[in-house]
Amino acid sequence: MAKYTNLLGEEVDTDEMKKARRKINPMVRAVGPGPEGMKCKHCRFLYAKEYARTYYKCEWRGDTNGPGTDHKINWPACSKFQKEEGNG
Ligand code: SF4
Repeated sequence: MAKYTNLLGEEVDTDEMKKARRKINPMVRAVGPGPEGMKCKHCRFLYAKEYARTYYKCEWRGDTNGPGTDHKINWPACSKFQKEEGNG
């Protein structure tokens, strides 16, 4: 069921809610935001898996070998952020 009306009479679209959640770094939700202006691509815990295409993962989130743990390099950093060595 993608849409329903809640007790306040508002229409709720659960598919849209899922999409919106995927746009937010789940680590920021879990442990809070990191340094202002830093992104996951600047962090030592981000790593790439090279197959037919490249998948990025965060060491803190683990890896299910599926899209649920894919990580966006331009997500804002979380509080576990550590600057990658030799990256400026
Ligand atoms: S800042 Fe680092 S530890 Fe935090 S979510 Fe991004 S890659 Fe993972």
